[in-house]
Amino acid sequence: MDRPLHIVVLSGAGISAESGLPTFRGNGGLWEGHSVYEVATPEAWERDPEMVLRFYNMRRQGVRRVKPNAAHLALAELDKRCSVSIITQNVDDLHERAGSNDILHLHGEIMKARSTADASLVIDLNKNDIKIGDQCELGSQLRPHIVWFGEDVPMIGRAAEIAAMADVFIVVGTSLAVYPAAGLLQVVPDSVPIYIVNPEQSGYQFGPNVRFIEKTACEGIPEVVAEIRSMIDT
Ligand code: NAD
Repeated sequence: MDRPLHIVVLSGAGISAESGLPTFRGNGGLWEGHSVYEVATPEAWERDPEMVLRFYNMRRQGVRRVKPNAAHLALAELDKRCSVSIITQNVDDLHERAGSNDILHLHGEIMKARSTADASLVIDLNKNDIKIGDQCELGSQLRPHIVWFGEDVPMIGRAAEIAAMADVFIVVGTSLAVYPAAGLLQVVPDSVPIYIVNPEQSGYQFGPNVRFIEKTACEGIPEVVAEIRSMIDT
């Protein structure tokens, strides 16, 4: 092959667990003690925007306190040898801080806010929280730049195009329970090797091209990266 190998990674909350950011499925369906329907739906925003902002402000402060782990760093390192596209369900910025270059956030980014009048008006929050009364340039309240349950996933089409172009596909830290993200596996060509890194089996039916690595992200991803690097070197 005269072009660099194209590695596509689908990551979920589990890749950030060893950095100290809890997943919610492992906590009885609760995200830091809250039902997701209480805090991560358009209805929740309608009912109590102040509570929703408080929840995301706390999550954002939590993200600022943690660092990328060995899994994020190994994927960023692989970027130097291959073309690596990361499709993440995570709203944290740990892939960015690890140094990966090509990252698509399917479910939004907690470090950004957007206008409630025009979804294309997105701003970086830097060190700020979002408060009631904070407005976009059109004079509308700012909300977290997050895709809530029940909302469309605008980046899914682009993510499917990327998944269809993979030479190797890696799935890490996702239960494959949240659609449409889980459906991305169906567009990966049958000839493409798929590695799945997760310490727990899911009920997902895998094809013959799938290798399941029953390990945490920090154990499993450096192993997969070493295997891909040896494929390139031979
Ligand atoms: P999920 O459905 O992707 O499930 C988490 C998966 O991670 C589970 O399959 C679990 O077995 C696996 N896992 C747990 N610890 C792991 C480890 N150390 N290494 C590898 N895998 C591990 O994710 P979810 O928690 O149910 O969240 C779904 C959505 O909620 C996300 O897509 C995101 O939008 C939001 N969320 C984001 C974050 C974040 O940005 N860090 C954290 C929690 C929830």
